[in-house]
Amino acid sequence: MSEIRKDPISHTWVIISIERAKRPSDYTKASAENENGQLSENCPLCKEAAIPPPPNDPWSGIAKERNNQWVTRVLPNKFPALKPDVSLAQKEENGFYHSLSGVGGHEIILDSLNHTETLSQMKLSQLEAMLLTYQTRFFRWKLDHRISYVLIFRNYKKAAGASLSHPHSQVIASPIIPPRIFEELREAKEYYKLHRECIFCRMIRDELKLRVRLIYQNPSILIFSPYAARFPFETYIIPKKHLASLEETDKKTLKDLSKAFKFLFSRLAEVLSDPPYNYMLHVSPLKTPGLLYYHWHIEVIPRLAMPAGYEFGSGIFINPTSPEEAAKILRKKENDSSAT
Ligand SMILES: [Zn+2]
Ligand SMILES: [Zn+2]
Ligand SMILES: [Zn+2]
Repeated sequence: MSEIRKDPISHTWVIISIERAKRPSDYTKASAENENGQLSENCPLCKEAAIPPPPNDPWSGIAKERNNQWVTRVLPNKFPALKPDVSLAQKEENGFYHSLSGVGGHEIILDSLNHTETLSQMKLSQLEAMLLTYQTRFFRWKLDHRISYVLIFRNYKKAAGASLSHPHSQVIASPIIPPRIFEELREAKEYYKLHRECIFCRMIRDELKLRVRLIYQNPSILIFSPYAARFPFETYIIPKKHLASLEETDKKTLKDLSKAFKFLFSRLAEVLSDPPYNYMLHVSPLKTPGLLYYHWHIEVIPRLAMPAGYEFGSGIFINPTSPEEAAKILRKKENDSSAT
């Protein structure tokens, strides 16, 4: 029987449609069809990576401590959605339409200088460097008072919107708080007012107790499939300790986060034949760090099912793989210690 579930944070409704249940093998065709073909010779990011960054630029990426080799790089996007050299202005038309000038920042992070490296293949030290580079973006954009929010995301493979094969993440710094974050903040604040507890901390407690949607844990990080997962194999990566932003996250937690990345992206590659995916890092807005009611997390969405007319028209998602089933498949073995 199908079930209509409500997400406690976003209040999004999801139809978990067991009748349409699919096994991982039903999805592998979509993964195989979306191979990236770009060679390193033609890769603009490989060319950029070969040029040394400006000396003493603290924002260029992360250099290896021992031989001072760059292992990640940060570059401005050549075709930016928002630009920093514009002044912030508001406009109104007919007292009805509102707009802001397109001020902000759009950056590309080269997660690795190796053109073909996937997250599942990266060494833990490389994943850690990538995550430390993510953290630098918040420190960087905090200095620009026009910026309210920094969203870091990764599109992997064409079907997930990637136009370049080179392993990269993107950063968009905007003068507005994106509506999805705004909604999460509003609901989380409401929950905190009523229960004096962070809604995400509550969710972590529940998932650890129920265990049916639990995929992986280490001392600092938990991975689970959310109760009202919108997409097949959608997962959340979240720190166990209450942390609202990446700026306040310590090195040990980032190290454990790199291990969680290694586990999850290796499992997705094994189980779903290296599927296309998007992930998004949700943190508190730049100007309100340390919020007691908001908790940073990463939403990972393998692109196995296309949202279509019903999803666009209703805002309700139909998910043919229950999060319990997805978690069971992604947890290594039933008796494996990684989920205990
Ligand atoms: Zn490349
Ligand atoms: Zn919390
Ligand atoms: Zn979120």
